[in-house]
Amino acid sequence: MGFCITCGNQHHDGVRFCRFCGTGQPSEQLLARLRAEAEQIRLIRMQMQQAQAQNDAYARLEAMRQQAEAAARINNQQNQNYRPPSW
Ligand SMILES: [Zn+2]
Repeated sequence: MGFCITCGNQHHDGVRFCRFCGTGQPSEQLLARLRAEAEQIRLIRMQMQQAQAQNDAYARLEAMRQQAEAAARINNQQNQNYRPPSW
């Protein structure tokens, strides 16, 4: 099943003209090419989403690292402020 490129009504695959509005429909060859193109776009988008998810994970890790670093700094400062009793 396909859809008319003009009126959007559904029609059987392989029809040359829409039975609703009469518009000529793209050939099977063109449709196959467009489907292949759409599939490629879908794959590229999926890869981009995966890359984005990876970036997000890295960003979260980096934020955790910075938090740990800040905590370590504070700890260090507290240790430096510590003076042993001088008796
Ligand atoms: Zn139509």
